[in-house]
Amino acid sequence: MVDFGLLSLDMGNLKDVDDEAEFSNGIADLHIDGSRGHTEAEAGDDDEEAENLLVGLGFVQPVEDSEKWKVERQHFPSKVGGCPAWLDPINIPTGEQSTCGICDSPLEFLLQVYAPIDDIDDAFHRSLFVFVCPNASCLEQDRHHQSKKPEENPRRCVKVFRSQLLRKNSYYSYTPPSGEDDLPISEGAALCTWCGIWKGHKACAACKQTKYCSRSHQVEHWRGSHAVYCRQVQAARKEGKMDVNIPVCSPGPVSDKLWPEMELVVDEEDNYEVDELSDPNANVPASDKTKSKAQLLLEDYERRREAGEEFTAADLEDVHEASQDMQLWAAFLAKIGKAPDQVLRYCRSPAAKPLWLSLNGQPENSGIPSCSHCGSRRIFEFQVLPQLLNFLDFKDEANSLDWGTIAVYTCERSCGEGVGKGYAEEFAWVQPPPE
Ligand SMILES: [Zn+2]
Ligand SMILES: [Zn+2]
Ligand SMILES: [Zn+2]
Ligand SMILES: [Zn+2]
Repeated sequence: MVDFGLLSLDMGNLKDVDDEAEFSNGIADLHIDGSRGHTEAEAGDDDEEAENLLVGLGFVQPVEDSEKWKVERQHFPSKVGGCPAWLDPINIPTGEQSTCGICDSPLEFLLQVYAPIDDIDDAFHRSLFVFVCPNASCLEQDRHHQSKKPEENPRRCVKVFRSQLLRKNSYYSYTPPSGEDDLPISEGAALCTWCGIWKGHKACAACKQTKYCSRSHQVEHWRGSHAVYCRQVQAARKEGKMDVNIPVCSPGPVSDKLWPEMELVVDEEDNYEVDELSDPNANVPASDKTKSKAQLLLEDYERRREAGEEFTAADLEDVHEASQDMQLWAAFLAKIGKAPDQVLRYCRSPAAKPLWLSLNGQPENSGIPSCSHCGSRRIFEFQVLPQLLNFLDFKDEANSLDWGTIAVYTCERSCGEGVGKGYAEEFAWVQPPPE
């Protein structure tokens, strides 16, 4: 006999808990499910359908020292910079997944978005993580790899990971966090002492205390402060004083290369209206203020037309493309102008499309590979805007990253099976800045 008693009791408990406190729905608080306004859109008119979708906008907000707890993993944060708040703190990506496919350096953490899906049980908690190689030249080369098919082993320097958990899991309380004093119910894997991002699976051979994700981070830490500390530990050990309290070497990450940690707060695009008086160019990243290639080309043709020059079919094709490009750029500025500080646009819907900055550098129809775990198609979920670059505080301006947009595509089913434990790699398409 099957006993349903316990099951219904469980469900009863679930309800009670829900009445008291609730989990944050993260970015999905906005109920962005693509269900708004479909009746008005003409059937089959993709653009109009996409126009009607609710979009969530992400804005960065500094994290005060007294509020650091808000971006810890048991609070399911959306955030930029610092170290990732790994949702699954044990099965963190390792090996090739954690390094740049081009230069082999460990990837830098860019941002994470908490985006659970209501009607998928094992996505009760769900976070997406974006990593980028900080070397500008790798991002340049990535352009040639991103359009390759998975079987051609593209070497990527921008990687996205998806992690999701049932409500009942071994890392977090079944009940929602209530505030500052909440702790995760289990410890995470030891992380690299230097970067605090990746698993620390190599230990310093001398002191056997500090752990690293890679040889390169061990070398950087040694040059930094570890050499002195390590010798102290060894000396103490020789004198048999190991039980004397030696301070832990650099608790937390010590690398100064992490990007500034900021909370990512979300609001609905509908809450913003265009200010008619504002100049849409005013808040565009500085590099885009100069005239675009398309603009220069159009001006050149205008001069030639006035001079009575004849145009070939190829010329006219160029003019057509350039003016389309200008239109796209103007449309981008108009959209962004509603809330110029937005750094991220979120809309998980099969009808949603990224807001492109130009015709150039968009993926071909077949350019988005299907989910490597279940074979379903991937759909657009969010895009990172160039505005984020203004907040990243590049130490070396000349070699700083630059992108038009990073569009993230994820499994349409947000599949759990086949993914196993830990993290499923998803897909990022990087559109370069307009020329
Ligand atoms: Zn690299
Ligand atoms: Zn490391
Ligand atoms: Zn050591
Ligand atoms: Zn899948």
